[in-house]
Amino acid sequence: MPDLLIRNIHPMGLDAQDILIRDGRIAAIGTGLAAEGAEVVDGKGAIAIPALVDAHTHLDKTTWGMPWYKGRKGGDLQALIDNERNERRAIGLDVHRQSMRHAIRLVENGTGHIRSHVDVDTDHKLTLLEGKLRTRAALKDAVDIQIVAFPQSGLMVRPGTYELLDEALAMGADVVGGLDPSSMDRDPKGSLDAIFRLAGKHGKPVDIHLHEYGELGSFTLEEIIARTEALGMQGRVGVSHCFCLGMPDPLRVGQLMERVARADIRIFTTGHPSAEVPSLQAMRAAGIKVGMGCDGIRDTWGPWGQPDMLHRARIVGMKNRMRRDDELELLLDVASRGGAEAMGLEAPGLAIGGPGDLTLVAGETLAHAVVEEAPRPLVVKRGRVVARDGVLALAGVTMP
Ligand SMILES: [Zn+2]
Repeated sequence: MPDLLIRNIHPMGLDAQDILIRDGRIAAIGTGLAAEGAEVVDGKGAIAIPALVDAHTHLDKTTWGMPWYKGRKGGDLQALIDNERNERRAIGLDVHRQSMRHAIRLVENGTGHIRSHVDVDTDHKLTLLEGKLRTRAALKDAVDIQIVAFPQSGLMVRPGTYELLDEALAMGADVVGGLDPSSMDRDPKGSLDAIFRLAGKHGKPVDIHLHEYGELGSFTLEEIIARTEALGMQGRVGVSHCFCLGMPDPLRVGQLMERVARADIRIFTTGHPSAEVPSLQAMRAAGIKVGMGCDGIRDTWGPWGQPDMLHRARIVGMKNRMRRDDELELLLDVASRGGAEAMGLEAPGLAIGGPGDLTLVAGETLAHAVVEEAPRPLVVKRGRVVARDGVLALAGVTMP
């Protein structure tokens, strides 16, 4: 592959520079760069940022591009879970096709890394994982996809799920998932011991959905912290949503955040529309590594969302009452470099020697780029142009 030289861009909104990417990594940043035989692209004065990172989504759930889904239900979490499990086949939700649509739109919008949970349950067994593994292989030159084997319908309450998760991890899932060990599984010790046992057996990290509120969620979180420390899993455990850190008890929340930071547990937040969420500013101030994700997009659960991390950053920003430019820059960092760091990836930002993954964004400043709803002019993965002006540009791959 030839070197890629992008001229006339503003790295992180600073003065105009060129960036040279060689062998997939940033080889030089400066003015008037030259490289014989390189593919040269005019950045036209756009801002360059590291690739956007969707650190929490569900590529196996979206109805994007399908007929409008009319069967959404209200009700509690269990009702939403059951509705989805029962409706998947009835509405013809083909996971490979749908995850391609979802992931390609994320790439077109500048995303270079995705962490996607995939439902593993005793009805669908490993078929959803298989569809997503095909998508990961098809898009390997455009985006890195981490797959979390996720017991969406429960682990302890559905015998046979543990064995399926074990098989999913052997088949190529990268992370062990979990779901509300106390409120859904009704057995926090059994559920967490099983999750951490699988992590130990396969040498893989953990990412647990924790919707549990208040003191119940805090109790479960303390159990997660205890296992993380006892097993030496610091830096390899994530908690998604973690709504209990959004409860209106600053003293208790402050103490919990300190303990989460000490155990180096990563928090993945989505600006969830139906819950109080932990404060992004408070988590970062406590030293917690935080990632951000689109979560489910237009699925059987809800009609909301777009496969675009800047759209999600705006939702998270509004949810966290952000207004100032420095707050918008924090949002952008969590949606890109910070999310990669939280996922355990190399994340130096735009730096010489760092990964050649970047996207150009429209706007006068970084803060302006967060709120500006405009197509990304250029998306680059490992030094290869993968999308231009919001459209995939990858040989042999088309939107299904
Ligand atoms: Zn989720």
